[in-house]
Amino acid sequence: MTPLLLGSEIYRGSSYGSWHPLRVPRVSTVLDLTRAMGWLPPERFRSSPRAKPAALTIWHTPDYVAALQAAEAEGTVDDATRARHGLGTNANPVFPEMYRRPATGAGASLLAGELLRDGGRIHSPGGGTHHGMPDRANGFCYLNDAVLALLSLRRNGVQRIAYVDIDAHHMDGVEHAFADDPDMLLVSTHEERRWPFTGALGDRGIGQTFNLPLPRGLNDSEFARVRDGLILPAVERFAPDAIVLQCGADAVEEDPLSRLTLSNNAHFDTLAALLPLAPRFLLLGGGGYNPWSVGRLWSGAWAVLAGREIPERLPPAAEAVLRGLTFEGNSRGKNPPGHWFTTIRDTPREGAVRSDVTDRIAHLAARIGAMPRAG
Ligand SMILES: [Zn+2]
Repeated sequence: MTPLLLGSEIYRGSSYGSWHPLRVPRVSTVLDLTRAMGWLPPERFRSSPRAKPAALTIWHTPDYVAALQAAEAEGTVDDATRARHGLGTNANPVFPEMYRRPATGAGASLLAGELLRDGGRIHSPGGGTHHGMPDRANGFCYLNDAVLALLSLRRNGVQRIAYVDIDAHHMDGVEHAFADDPDMLLVSTHEERRWPFTGALGDRGIGQTFNLPLPRGLNDSEFARVRDGLILPAVERFAPDAIVLQCGADAVEEDPLSRLTLSNNAHFDTLAALLPLAPRFLLLGGGGYNPWSVGRLWSGAWAVLAGREIPERLPPAAEAVLRGLTFEGNSRGKNPPGHWFTTIRDTPREGAVRSDVTDRIAHLAARIGAMPRAG
């Protein structure tokens, strides 16, 4: 039955607006590229259902869900709705699929919780909207499908869950939901002094929450220390029944929204190391605002999840998918380097490991041994 990739055609051609970072194609690239690679035969793909409004209210407030639906239907919001629910803002604008698109990502997450009941691996590149709040849109996220995935796993009998978030931004919505839950391990690595400005090193809640802010210019060697010194030991000690990895693609060098400078090897290697640590695995997307780096990263992550080999040089059909992308309104789109078309795996970006980074890892690692073990 698994691995499965949950996707939808609703993402194709959908845009938050011509000026918004989420004007770029993402999930559609993953579907096209993985199919061109021969990695996504029909039996590995499932079209994501759209979540019913009532299903969203296991975490979101009924008032908010109704306001979101109404905003899509009417194509506008009033000032009271904007103030109360964060809809119709610069970050979360009114756009044609503003309810159906996030409800599809939420539908994938709710379905994943059911499908993983007895084990398996699922990739939902349209998921990972970790900033959504119960009663308001936040940080490009209208709903919080990551929270819904965790709740769905719980409803399907999966108690101890490790949520690992390697997006460039802090997991504020997920932390809001689960920071005090003793059967949830939350680990977030994110760029320091960047929106939403939460997730300081000492922030931990009552449960098992680990926040690691990271400095600008973070390289692969430094992230390998984060993986081996914090992420893997914490997950191993916690011994979860399921792992959810939010694999935002915005911490790579090519992304226009962060100053972290990883290669996608950091993501692939972290994913590969986490896979054996639980019988159930859900891989979510997240941020990612350069159409080439996000499409290559999530396609490569699917290859890792599904046990496919990533070739050095892509076959012509896959190269054609990448050559067909454009990046309007960004200087990086004017002269894309050749390897954005011909490869999925980046050249590693190794470098010196700063003591600033290792000190923070050590600070958090000291808490790992104090976590209660399973059972
Ligand atoms: Zn992000």
